[in-house]
Amino acid sequence: MKTVGDRRLRPLVERVLAGQPPDAADAAALADLARGDGAQLLAAAWRVRERFFGRAVRMCSIAAGKLGGCGEDCAWCAQSHRSDTQQGPRTVRTPVEDVLAAARRTTQAGAAGRFGIVNSGRRPTDADIDAVIDALDRIGADGSCDVRLCASLGEITESQARRLAAAGLDRYHHNLETSREMFPHLVTGHTYDDRLATLAAARRGGLGLCCGGLFGLGESWEDRISLALTLGDQVRPDCVPLNFLQPIPGTAMENQPPLGPDECLTIIATFRLLLPTTDIKVAGGREFCLGDQQHRIFHAGATSCMTGGYLTTTGQSAAEDLKMVAEMGFNVVSELPPVD
Ligand code: SF4
Repeated sequence: MKTVGDRRLRPLVERVLAGQPPDAADAAALADLARGDGAQLLAAAWRVRERFFGRAVRMCSIAAGKLGGCGEDCAWCAQSHRSDTQQGPRTVRTPVEDVLAAARRTTQAGAAGRFGIVNSGRRPTDADIDAVIDALDRIGADGSCDVRLCASLGEITESQARRLAAAGLDRYHHNLETSREMFPHLVTGHTYDDRLATLAAARRGGLGLCCGGLFGLGESWEDRISLALTLGDQVRPDCVPLNFLQPIPGTAMENQPPLGPDECLTIIATFRLLLPTTDIKVAGGREFCLGDQQHRIFHAGATSCMTGGYLTTTGQSAAEDLKMVAEMGFNVVSELPPVD
């Protein structure tokens, strides 16, 4: 692995290791470096990751509570009614027994400490919230389930967040996806500020936050850095999931060229340096975009990953992920150690 030799990178890393978060000038320097020699960023990200998180790796898994039939037009999404996909035109609800079974399988697989229920749609109806609370109650009361509970249900209000928190929900997932500048080119039905308002409502309602982005949409390095700065300055989530576009036939992004492994690893390293003490999770597109390089995500700065597949695409099994993590010399933990 390369050493951190760049004259701008070395002092930046020393400041970050001493507990001083990067500033706007650091971010501009990182954008510049990311376009050039990504290997130096990876070396720097590893030093920061090792300092704050050691060799710990966390995993989570998800199950759909409601799939498809969404009235929004997010350009990448197979569940939008605008997409010509299997999931697009109609809504399919998962029976609560099946959600419970997925939570049990997550516990039995011994990999993921968190389990998330994910619904399509801009915002949940009262019936949707009731169904999720029923699932949370059933999972919480089931002796075979030992997972922290997360959900991703679209725009929620503070009172809905309070109901979910009272039912045992620990963390709410709602991505910003990209920069404020790029967002309206990809989504026209709702705004960046709508998403920020949901995150604020979930926080006020007592929930932790999982909020990140999707890369490979045609965004620039400035867009990526802008997203990281918004997350660090405004949202301050507990976890930042990084997704890499797997273009799905029938969506508006079906012809978008996928990112290669080196660019994905450089994105992970850049987010590690800009958000040094935040859990950085590699989620959708890991297997598709990184292929046989996916084992390198943890050395590039990731501290967690999704396991067992995604909503509309398949992924590596929990057993394969456990093997990969062990072979790389990392330890799977149910929660990351607190950062000192
Ligand atoms: S709101 Fe969610 S489910 Fe609907 S199109 Fe956008 S990403 Fe897909």
